[in-house]
Amino acid sequence: MLNPDGFVWPIPGYTKITSPFGKRNSPTAGASSYHYGADIGAPEGTNLIAVADGQVTFLGFLGAGGYTLTLSFGDFKVTYCHISPNYLVSEGDFVLQGQIIANVGPKYVYGVPGNKYKDSNGKPTNGATTGCHLHLGMRINDKYVNPLEYF
Ligand SMILES: [Zn+2]
Repeated sequence: MLNPDGFVWPIPGYTKITSPFGKRNSPTAGASSYHYGADIGAPEGTNLIAVADGQVTFLGFLGAGGYTLTLSFGDFKVTYCHISPNYLVSEGDFVLQGQIIANVGPKYVYGVPGNKYKDSNGKPTNGATTGCHLHLGMRINDKYVNPLEYF
């Protein structure tokens, strides 16, 4: 176990789960009807911190996830989706548990090549999202698990 003291909550000050892990009705066009993560509502700019020591192995725009950061450690991959494009770290960086690694992103993003997600008025959104939140994903050996069971 890399983190004998456990993981720290990724979004200090916010605990309201706006969409849990598992089967659901798709909230917006293009959003999955099986939700491979948990959504935590928070305003744009809210700090996101590393749940554990690890390496940033992906940082970029990733389809339905919008701007996404993946933190990898051991058999775990933790994804932070719908983040701000004003990155605070770089892909490849090693980060420490509790370090601020990103901020909650805006609902709308402009000028992203290949972004097919938009709201009902046609404004391009930060992936498949209906409002500012953190989508927290967790994989163990590349299998999705309910991240809330690990906090
Ligand atoms: Zn989500």
